[in-house]
Amino acid sequence: MEPLLYIVPTPIGNLEDLTFRALRVLQSVDRIVAEDTRHTLKLLQHYDIHKPLTSYHEHSPPQRLAELLGLLTAGSRLALVSDAGTPGISDPGRALVQGCWERGVVLEVLPGACACITALVSSGLETGRFVFEGFLPARGRERQERLAQCQHETRTLIFYEGPHHLRQTLQDLIHWLGTDRELVLARELTKLHAQVWRGTLAQALVDFPQPRGEFTLVVQGRAVAVETVDDAFLQARLAELLARGLSPSAASRLVAQQTGISRNHIYQLTLSTHHNKEGSLEDPG
Ligand code: SAM
Repeated sequence: MEPLLYIVPTPIGNLEDLTFRALRVLQSVDRIVAEDTRHTLKLLQHYDIHKPLTSYHEHSPPQRLAELLGLLTAGSRLALVSDAGTPGISDPGRALVQGCWERGVVLEVLPGACACITALVSSGLETGRFVFEGFLPARGRERQERLAQCQHETRTLIFYEGPHHLRQTLQDLIHWLGTDRELVLARELTKLHAQVWRGTLAQALVDFPQPRGEFTLVVQGRAVAVETVDDAFLQARLAELLARGLSPSAASRLVAQQTGISRNHIYQLTLSTHHNKEGSLEDPG
């Protein structure tokens, strides 16, 4: 069966990074669904493609998704593009793909430009196993919990970040991962002033006093240590997370996830590790 929805990656900087197949698909579909129609228009003008455009982004009303799925089930052929790179990767796309699966609409994803893969391969860090973290939650407990999950990750970590938050993110990574962790900062990849910088987290703060451009951070995973996961180990890990401000319930949930040990057992250990200021602990939920 011919696909009705095509997911089409677009360049992350260099306009030549559009595949022949992506061009052919964009030229042949009935309509192009774009994150920002004005942005996509520039790409289409460059390639002399003239198609009706519909906008679809994270703030689109829910009925937009229903309209697009309606068009697809009625037999329209659509291509989804985002502003740069692969739709669905820190960009809109997943809900539309999920909707197609639910309705039996055939879709095809074209391979193509993606900042995280380009940065990872450029980094020279371990590519055999890696974790894509995308953008960290902006602030608060969610951000701290995500960083706590990253702290003991042994696989290579990949983050996206804009210039205005880069220094804060570097500071937070130093707080959780230490100053000496190896880092590759891939900046403005494929563009005129592309740069792949390699050093430690601490050195990055020195070398990027006023960051400019789009950044992908590739961070070395934690060195694998042979640890005995006994109660003493668990208590030390819990104490560390509590000291860093995680709630008892969040700390026990995280340690249970990371060790595969029952959450109830860990919660009992949390009780003996920490009594909160009110004299009672949250329910482990
Ligand atoms: N869907 C895109 C992809 O496939 O990579 C990612 C979109 S996300 C909204 C944008 C983020 O990707 C930027 O803030 C930056 O972290 C990263 N990024 C995009 N283009 C980049 C480039 N040329 N160089 C480095 N990082 C880039």
